[in-house]
Amino acid sequence: MDAPPASPLPATSALPWQRAAAGAGLLAGSVPQPTIFARMSARAAQLGAMNLGQGFPDTDPPAAVADAAVRAIREGVNQYPPGPGAPALRAAIAEHQRRFYGLDVDPATDVLVTTGATEALASAILGLVRPGDEVLTLAPWYDAYGALIALAGGIHRTVAIRELGEEGGDGRARGVRLGVDLEELRCAFTDRTRLVIVNSPHNPTGIVLDPAVLSAIVEEATAHDALILTDEVYEHLVLEGAHVPVATLPRARERTITVSSAGKTFSVTGWKIGWACAPAPLIAAITGIKQWLTFTSGAPFQGAVAAGLALPDADYAEIREDLRARRDLLVAGLRDIGARVSVPDAGYFVLADLSPLGAQDAAELCERLPEEAGVVAIPVSAFLRPGEGDHLRSWVRFAFCKDRETLREAISRLEHWAQTQQG
Ligand code: PMP
Ligand code: GLN
Repeated sequence: MDAPPASPLPATSALPWQRAAAGAGLLAGSVPQPTIFARMSARAAQLGAMNLGQGFPDTDPPAAVADAAVRAIREGVNQYPPGPGAPALRAAIAEHQRRFYGLDVDPATDVLVTTGATEALASAILGLVRPGDEVLTLAPWYDAYGALIALAGGIHRTVAIRELGEEGGDGRARGVRLGVDLEELRCAFTDRTRLVIVNSPHNPTGIVLDPAVLSAIVEEATAHDALILTDEVYEHLVLEGAHVPVATLPRARERTITVSSAGKTFSVTGWKIGWACAPAPLIAAITGIKQWLTFTSGAPFQGAVAAGLALPDADYAEIREDLRARRDLLVAGLRDIGARVSVPDAGYFVLADLSPLGAQDAAELCERLPEEAGVVAIPVSAFLRPGEGDHLRSWVRFAFCKDRETLREAISRLEHWAQTQQG
């Protein structure tokens, strides 16, 4: 099988912001276009539409986490924390890796606290990718990957997530199964592959890559001497099965940078506390960029996230169970309106193919859905470049990390809208 097409090399005369915009498919005119998430949240606010677009929860963080942040501000934790992160948070991250995954991480050298997962991803990509290096991601891909790869001058290659069949037979109607073809994945690696970005659980599809796929990635990365950047921000939101961190796989550790964030786990996306764990030389390289971006941030939130990471297992289970109920609510609602649904195993999002409702072009549909239905959602094409994912053209991403009232109201509005489509 041929390797999939790569992004064209950006013109060398393009300004860096133009490269970033082009890498994310947002270069139009002479100003940077806002991201799809920003644009759709603004429309939701403007129209009073139910916002199932941008992935932020409208539920509260665990009380212990919120209280710790308030206390920290009152107790004077308001100045620059150390560049690599508050010692208490680095220790809590190392302990978290040991407790959940049996990984031995040195908090002094193998952990870097960042301004959200985004800054960890940016620092790793800008610090480790040279112009002309190939970077491999799944497609669809989280928007920042495309922008950052282009900013670094890298060549973005992708491996498609496709329909692998229909699920079912276990008594539950499961819907469409999405995943990766192993041979296609292996063929996408070349001798110029510098970095492979793994994202499992995956945004936007909600799939968890199976261990055979993760092992093939590690094997190919090793064979081509590529680094692995693994974005595991949804690590604690796995609803079926268990999370397998790439760094726990045989021979992965030495070449793997693991990125995560407190935002999703504790419903604090606005705090922007993230981190990277990796062997000391890789952390040193990433720090070499991070210290010029923000240097440091979020003093009172760092200790609060440390408190969150130390919460007992029962609290983590509660976070998951609460999310599972909301996933099931939205999945049932989307099925009821006649959509083909891919039931997510993890994360914040469910994908639905709306072609049975006559919508062939989800991008066009998501532009009119806020007015027509009073609901905001994101077309999967926003996570793809033209030509990368025609097979997902009629698919829409809906966020279920919203409170039950919002979900119920959105479902009821979609039901009314669906009737007008079919009638
Ligand atoms: N990676 C993925 C896959 C995401 O969905 C997001 C967005 N929430 C991020 C990274 C960014 O995380 P943060 O808000 O911690 O920067
Ligand atoms: N990760 C969030 C999502 O996928 C969006 C974050 C952002 O707005 N950049 O919806």
